[in-house]
Amino acid sequence: MAPRWLIGLLLVGVSCAAEATSDEPDDDAWLDGKGDAASAVNVAATHLDVDLGSRTAVATIELEKYGNVALEVGGLTVTDVTDDRGHRRYRIIGGTLRVTWVRGPLVVSYGFTEHAQADGLLPGGSTVIWPYFCGNLFPCHSQPADGSRFSLNLDGVPAGQSAIYPAEIKADAPPYMLAWAVGTYTRASLGTTAAGTEVAVYWLPRGETAARAGTRHLRAVFDWYERTLGPYAFGREVAAVSVVWGEGLYGGMEHHPYWHVAKDAMSDEVTHAHEAAHGWFGDGVRLRCWEDFVLSEGTVSYLSARALGAVAGPTMEATIWADYQVELDDAIATGGAPAWPTGCNQIDIIRDDLFTNLPYMQGAFFYKDVAAVVGADQLDQVIGRFYRAHKNQPASMQAMIDAIKADTGFDATPIATARLRKRFGPR
Ligand SMILES: [Zn+2]
Repeated sequence: MAPRWLIGLLLVGVSCAAEATSDEPDDDAWLDGKGDAASAVNVAATHLDVDLGSRTAVATIELEKYGNVALEVGGLTVTDVTDDRGHRRYRIIGGTLRVTWVRGPLVVSYGFTEHAQADGLLPGGSTVIWPYFCGNLFPCHSQPADGSRFSLNLDGVPAGQSAIYPAEIKADAPPYMLAWAVGTYTRASLGTTAAGTEVAVYWLPRGETAARAGTRHLRAVFDWYERTLGPYAFGREVAAVSVVWGEGLYGGMEHHPYWHVAKDAMSDEVTHAHEAAHGWFGDGVRLRCWEDFVLSEGTVSYLSARALGAVAGPTMEATIWADYQVELDDAIATGGAPAWPTGCNQIDIIRDDLFTNLPYMQGAFFYKDVAAVVGADQLDQVIGRFYRAHKNQPASMQAMIDAIKADTGFDATPIATARLRKRFGPR
């Protein structure tokens, strides 16, 4: 078979030699798991049609170009794969769906299940796939550097409940940004920012008092981000959504434009300001590598203190920094990976202990130290220029340090070395 195929190739080789000889892959080798999955084509857009009743979905994946596809599907039961050629042969190796030489959008039909460890569809009705669990909900590349546009449609929402999710995300976002929340929600508008973005809040039964307290300044905070950093990337309407995560989980998750806040944290203004800020860093500017986690969490921890200070007053800001100091001391005593490890995607953010409070708090104090030298207003402008330069693209923490130097002349490397590169504590 091989020699005859070669002859055929030679006959047509004149007109499309490059395509046939260098790009056309060996089907079986790719399906057998050979060839670097990192060489697979990137995702351009992900369209999800989900039926909550049957827990089945159809994902239509637009690719950046034709080629070999490797998508994470570890928690899914794939039932059919098609593209412009029709039904496609595929293989799933080590949780990765492999299809060769995909033409046109790849359409994957599949089933999914509930997950109890904050790694997919949760028993409480919402989803969490951060950091790399998107393969429990839809076929994906979990690397935040590979941004995708999204559309989402949910059917089978239980009677009497509502589903809160973005029908469309028109700008490139990290895979972990996408989520939905299903529950008995009440919505209140908090008003509109100067740029025209409506800010709202959704609470669950008996949740209004906490929701109102936690979002008292949220419209003003969002307005401050827009004015200080630049235009928001993910739509004209945003909201904080209360979710039931279960015991021991606290805080929020940057599921823009409808970010989630654990029911028990709904009264906490810092949590709301923090998740809102991820619209600019973490989601708006994506992480180039997992090692750049501090560019997301450190930057938004700093920005939320700045924004609440600006709109709620200096006493509020002082209280936040006092709380941050306690959290920093605890994080240093507990230890873990350095806040900003060297390398690129060599670390497992969970197993290698990068997901501690160190990147959050050392990151916040890094910016505070820089602001003490260059001025806080000046630093706001640097961060804003950085956002506008890297909006909807991946970027690194080193690029932020370079931007501070370029814009202010101040070399923040010694502060970064002392706070972010250093390993603390017993772990
Ligand atoms: Zn965060």
